[in-house]
Amino acid sequence: MITQYNINAVRHVLESGNRFVVLAHKNPDGDAVGSTLALCHYLRSIGKEAVVVLPNGFPQFLAWLPGTVGVMLYETAKEQCDGVISAADALFCLDFNTLTRTGDVCAALEKSSATKVLIDHHPQPSGEFAISISHPEACSTCELVFRVITALGGVESIDFDMAQCIYTGMMTDTGAFAYASARKDVYLIIAELLDKGIDKDWIYRKVFYNFSVTKMRLWGYAMYDKLKVYNKYNAALITLSHSELMRFYASKGDTEGLVNQPLQVKGLRFSCFLREEQPGKINVSLRSVDDFPCNAVAAEFFNGGGHKNASGGELYGTMEMAVERFRQALQKYKAELTE
Ligand code: 5GP
Ligand code: MN
Repeated sequence: MITQYNINAVRHVLESGNRFVVLAHKNPDGDAVGSTLALCHYLRSIGKEAVVVLPNGFPQFLAWLPGTVGVMLYETAKEQCDGVISAADALFCLDFNTLTRTGDVCAALEKSSATKVLIDHHPQPSGEFAISISHPEACSTCELVFRVITALGGVESIDFDMAQCIYTGMMTDTGAFAYASARKDVYLIIAELLDKGIDKDWIYRKVFYNFSVTKMRLWGYAMYDKLKVYNKYNAALITLSHSELMRFYASKGDTEGLVNQPLQVKGLRFSCFLREEQPGKINVSLRSVDDFPCNAVAAEFFNGGGHKNASGGELYGTMEMAVERFRQALQKYKAELTE
């Protein structure tokens, strides 16, 4: 999948530098955190100085991943992060396709003259990277990190910690191998990771069976009181206002995955979750099944983008305005949703 040309280019970057920063997108998910940590472990294993910089915090259900204690958050340590970014010989940009996806980190990245290496599986990468390892056909960025590491140093280079991080990102980006994972290669890689001693059932429980009671009640509330089904469009919407999130003591990650739930209803093809993360700022998550391109809706109606079946965006304004945008999207895409 990855060209020898790109592998040689990465090898050259590694041989000619000593200090590396590994970055991922804002609101990092399992693939973002797993892929950056795995690559960071690898860089350290070959004797380099490496650190992971994330724009903001990651969900608590990822805190067990090996290496999270050393992660630097731009949101809370801007100056230190600016320092390591400006001192870096190369910046590894993982799980995003354009620098703006890193939020406030973007300015520091644009200013840096270090070699920028993209490793990502989102469609349409920007031209901001010196080396661009962009493969939308990969199930996850973690799959690509596995491929890069093994292409550089063989499967022996993958240790137990890297294997745990890589498996976690592959698992979370595919809904535990329910979608985007129909290629044989995915399972050949899993076989190698099992060989490294990972306990896949334990990882599954760590990531998915970790609800707090308040999170469980929030999900129950969302499903019982807030789920709206638009039968004419085979679509569903869940909204949670800032005050509702406060009422359930929702913390980061407590609503991650909620948007998938309505797609369990027979016949539904498109699901939208609107979360008022701060008063006046609405975070948008979209999911679809089959051919319905929810990334087109994200780009056209919600200032966002992403994958065909999993995308997102954001809006500034009231929840009512956001719901209205969603309704407009349904109107526009009615034919595709009901065909
Ligand atoms: P989630 O719903 O899990 O927050 O996001 C799902 C996917 O949508 C992400 O993996 C990412 O590809 C995409 N996405 C989410 N938010 C944004 C955004 O604000 N802009 C863009 N371009 N993509 C987004
Ligand atoms: Mn990903």
